[in-house]
Amino acid sequence: MTTFVLATHNAHKVQELRRILGDRLGHHQLIGYDGPEPAEDGDSFEANALIKARAAAVFTGLPAIADDSGICVDALGGAPGIHSARYAELHNGTARDDLDNLRLLVTNMAGKPDRRAQFVCAAALVDVAALDAGTPGEHTERGTWPGSVLEAPAGSGGFGYDPIFAPDGWGVSAAELTPAQKDADSHRGRAFGLLITVLRERYG
Ligand code: IMP
Repeated sequence: MTTFVLATHNAHKVQELRRILGDRLGHHQLIGYDGPEPAEDGDSFEANALIKARAAAVFTGLPAIADDSGICVDALGGAPGIHSARYAELHNGTARDDLDNLRLLVTNMAGKPDRRAQFVCAAALVDVAALDAGTPGEHTERGTWPGSVLEAPAGSGGFGYDPIFAPDGWGVSAAELTPAQKDADSHRGRAFGLLITVLRERYG
């Protein structure tokens, strides 16, 4: 049995990841992380996921799992992308929340005919002990969820940008899906589905 530490402080993401990883981790255990949070100054989703996982792995000595995610909008040149969590803050200069981020995206997309977008999630595994033993200690997987940006929010489930994202093939916003529907299709579900295969190979 291996104990993994989940290197995220975002309660919504912890909830989703516990759901996604839950039963599929078999006899392994997943614990939360409340140690220091590193500066996420990487230039890609993968770099930022590794920064978070490395910090938790070094702090706890346990193999660490982390994710970095965001929404990339074609008409905005891929923005907000890796800056999704701080979109309004970077724009307005003050600390802002998920609702401010969503409102800013609605404003910036007003009148734009090209509504294409995708959620992206990089899932990272960092195992310092494996690294010391000479085997690859770091691994990332990427999941994407294609769709489009709605003109106005719809639905009350999910979190973050979910109410203004319509994933392809559903005809509703991500905030109108059940948790199980979202997990089965989402960027996070896809990235961690791939990472689980690696975890099972390495840790049994
Ligand atoms: P992170 O915690 O640095 O990975 O930031 C993720 C950002 O992207 C936050 O602003 C989230 O609200 C947003 N985000 C990531 N995944 C989702 C999702 O599944 N639904 C809605 N927003 C998301």
